[in-house]
Amino acid sequence: MTEQTSQRSAAVIGAGPAGLMAAEVLRDAGIVVTVYEQMPSVGRKFLLAGRGGLNLTHSEPLDAFLTRYGDAPQILQAAIRVFTPDGLRKWAEALGQETFIGSSGRVFPKAMKASPLLRAWLRRLAASGVTFKLRHRWDGWKDESLCFSSPDGEVTVRPDITILALGGGSWPSLGSNGRWVEQLARRRIAVAPLRPANCGFRVGWSETFRRRFEGQPLKGIALGVAGRTVRGEAIVTANGIEGGAIYAISTPLRDAVLKTGEATLHVALRPDSDISELERKLAKPRGKQSTSNWLRKALNLSPVAIGLLQEAAIASGEILTALMARELAERVNHLPIRITGVAPIERAISSTGGIPFAALDDNFMLRQIPGTFAAGEMLDWEAPTGGYLLQGCFATGVAAAKGAVRWAERSWPM
Ligand SMILES: Cc1cc2nc3c(=O)[nH]c(=O)nc-3n(C[C@H](O)[C@H](O)[C@H](O)COP(=O)(O)OP(=O)(O)OC[C@H]3O[C@@H](n4cnc5c(N)ncnc54)[C@H](O)[C@@H]3O)c2cc1C
Repeated sequence: MTEQTSQRSAAVIGAGPAGLMAAEVLRDAGIVVTVYEQMPSVGRKFLLAGRGGLNLTHSEPLDAFLTRYGDAPQILQAAIRVFTPDGLRKWAEALGQETFIGSSGRVFPKAMKASPLLRAWLRRLAASGVTFKLRHRWDGWKDESLCFSSPDGEVTVRPDITILALGGGSWPSLGSNGRWVEQLARRRIAVAPLRPANCGFRVGWSETFRRRFEGQPLKGIALGVAGRTVRGEAIVTANGIEGGAIYAISTPLRDAVLKTGEATLHVALRPDSDISELERKLAKPRGKQSTSNWLRKALNLSPVAIGLLQEAAIASGEILTALMARELAERVNHLPIRITGVAPIERAISSTGGIPFAALDDNFMLRQIPGTFAAGEMLDWEAPTGGYLLQGCFATGVAAAKGAVRWAERSWPM
């Protein structure tokens, strides 16, 4: 007589933070879990995020935290209320990775990188019985089975539960290449096109400016577009601008550029000074100082900030030194930069677009494919940097796995 087993099986596709978290929750619920990953190793984008210190989450109060997800639907917010920023810190600490709150309120592991956390996590997953199939690229469905290309040829499996956690479309070289969009389109799931988020922008710098200032930071500035202002830092790139403040304003800036092909970004180089104060400082006799020395001494501007003022003056056919103190003061805190395009998704920190929440039920299950759930950046939500991305991925990984367990219990009551 064959022994009846009540153990259910799950395939988790994609071994980023969302997929690994889903695998852990499923395994803890007694489900037999196999994680499929197309790359030769897991968590490559997570490891890259670690190079910037691994900003895991943010310490602000939960209600304020949730506003960072814009008009994200209730189920995303509910997922974060279940797996909270505090919950994430406790989870990391259970893996031996103590966390701390930085001066900006962002939360980091003390190690300031992802590799120790990922190593400890993988050890725990393997010890709990999770199986990993690397170099297995998911190619969609054949009948109701999942198909993978592997070094040993095509593999087909038919698990009870499938969790899709294939990531968004940024940094495709790390595995998250968004090719899954085609597979879902074949199942008539209307996926929103993947677009860059937390991304850089194109600016047609003059050759002189580019050569002199590429890679240099504009510190302590404020950026404004479409009625939104953010403070922080930006970096001049060969053909544009990127960095924390740019990412923070990237949603309205991207939407403006995509609508009309270009947009004007306004930079305040001295956002803590009002125009009258700047005017007073600029009205003092200049003597024989060069323009750069004068601006540097009068307003404490960096060479790249002065270069930007000169670049904008040339673009509008003006000569900086010919401007009255008042006009120049206004330029300093309302400097227009013409944005001519969005930097490619390949270099964005994250992407937006993907599976719309309307395609999911409350269990994060695809309404059209019972037994198949989705989590992480492949869902259509957007958040700024600051730990909100990883928090969203971890929390939806937990939610999709818990939803799958609930669904399985309902489908096969013991
Ligand atoms: C430079 C950089 C820095 C970042 N820093 C931070 C930070 O400090 N804090 C923060 O909150 N966020 C940060 N992020 C964002 C964060 O890393 C991502 O949001 C997060 O990794 C997304 O997790 P995910 O599990 O949804 O997808 P991913 O991490 O992208 O994982 C998806 C996995 O699915 C696999 N896959 C895709 N297609 C297939 C297929 N067909 N078959 C099999 N496997 C497949 C991929 O190979 C990949 O391993 C950063 C991102 C970048 C690029």
